[in-house]
Amino acid sequence: MKPHAHKHSHPRQELSALKNRLRGQSRKITGPRAAILEILRKHPHPLTNREILAALPKDECDLATIYRSMHLLEKMGMVKRFDFGDGAARFELVGEGDDGHHHHLVCMRCSEVVEIEECFPSKVERRIAAANGFKSVTHKLEFFGICPDCQ
Ligand SMILES: [Zn+2]
Ligand SMILES: [Zn+2]
Ligand SMILES: [Zn+2]
Repeated sequence: MKPHAHKHSHPRQELSALKNRLRGQSRKITGPRAAILEILRKHPHPLTNREILAALPKDECDLATIYRSMHLLEKMGMVKRFDFGDGAARFELVGEGDDGHHHHLVCMRCSEVVEIEECFPSKVERRIAAANGFKSVTHKLEFFGICPDCQ
């Protein structure tokens, strides 16, 4: 991944606090899980399992271990899964007490990712819910375009 200026980044979380959350849910803090959390903590954008593997120290764990760990961390609400439409699940740390709802702007040429704070007004979801008799309507949404460097 290339370094880039972040227009927005989520507050960094302390690794000790993350480990406490793992402990709080009485899960063993295995070496691989702690190492994965440390990688995610340092990256302000969602990472694929393969990117996590590439960022880990050599022989820390294999792709299958990362896959299982991400599944568990997602179930625990510690990471949120994002889909950029390329078939690779991406994971980002979620702040405690936060649902992690936000969006990304992705460059279609170089894959630069910008964190986007803007979201639909909640009245749009309320209107969609009311019009269709649904409850608890939410959305997933990512934006795509060409970044300034690639124009
Ligand atoms: Zn994000
Ligand atoms: Zn670009
Ligand atoms: Zn939104």
